[in-house]
Amino acid sequence: MKRVLLIQTGGTIAMQAQLDGVILDPDRWSDQLYKQIPSLSVIADIDVEPLLFEDSSDLHPHHWDSLLKLIEQRYSQYDGFVILHGTDTMAYTASALSFGIDGLDKPVILTGSQVPLSRIRSDAQRNLINSVEIATSDLPEVAICFNDHVYRGNRATKMSIGDFDAFATPNYPSLADIGLDIDFHKKNWLVTSPEFSTKGPRFCSGFSGNILILTIHPGFQTNQLESIALENIDALIIRAYGSGNFPVKGEYSWIPFLHRCKDMDLITVITSQANHDAVNLKNYSAGRTALDFGVLSSGDMTLEASVTKMMWLISAHHANDESNLQIAQGFQENLRGERS
Ligand code: ASP
Repeated sequence: MKRVLLIQTGGTIAMQAQLDGVILDPDRWSDQLYKQIPSLSVIADIDVEPLLFEDSSDLHPHHWDSLLKLIEQRYSQYDGFVILHGTDTMAYTASALSFGIDGLDKPVILTGSQVPLSRIRSDAQRNLINSVEIATSDLPEVAICFNDHVYRGNRATKMSIGDFDAFATPNYPSLADIGLDIDFHKKNWLVTSPEFSTKGPRFCSGFSGNILILTIHPGFQTNQLESIALENIDALIIRAYGSGNFPVKGEYSWIPFLHRCKDMDLITVITSQANHDAVNLKNYSAGRTALDFGVLSSGDMTLEASVTKMMWLISAHHANDESNLQIAQGFQENLRGERS
């Protein structure tokens, strides 16, 4: 029987329902899982690692490092990994883990639920059973399994606060869909490079950098930008409109700010507030001006992938004393299937 390590980090799936909402209650959690789903042991031989017990809003880069360390330590003992995680930052963690493992050849599946497992009418049971089953497959990816779909982790984003169908990958098809049978879409899977087949994957943790995300909106008072201490920032991500458009006229123009960013040699990225399709800075004159300032395009990456990839690149390159140019180059490459 396949061996799966189930790693607990918290989230709604592990919370207790009260009359006025849900709470994290470590004492009652471990009982819940096994008493409620004894059938899990029919699918796989499962060990549990209670690594963390947090609402996922309280998870940060050092927690991603802890997850990577745990998976690395146990990698040879298990056929797959399931991480129970809150939905709010699940796509960030999934993206971060994907960058932190090069040459992954086993499933690392994140799941959670919209309703606690302790509630009768919950999506937790289904998500957990599906995830354990996917963790016994040969999917070589960090993925999110939710509401009968399996998504590439670094392409996923949380789409709904209240619907069981909480995740989607707007710019990539699903890796598997679960119905009467599991339909594996292998043509969409990453192929592990043969370079790793004998020595196994390379774990490269470390996420750092002070990232600032700014969202443009009509009427944005650009004089607010003057008070930003750019010298304390490692990378700036601007959430622009559509294909990467932003205001260029009068007091609302972002051009003086982009000028300042260029003068400071600040890594600046333009992403879009639209989820589907890719930023194309060559389309409109604003984007072309941004390109002249050396601004990077996030292409069709999610915000979650852009942020975690940037943190990971900054950590790796600054550790080696490498320049912003190398970070910029890495950002524009497709490293783990996160951009087309
Ligand atoms: N606030 C919760 C979390 O992200 C939401 C959830 O799990 O659905 O931990």
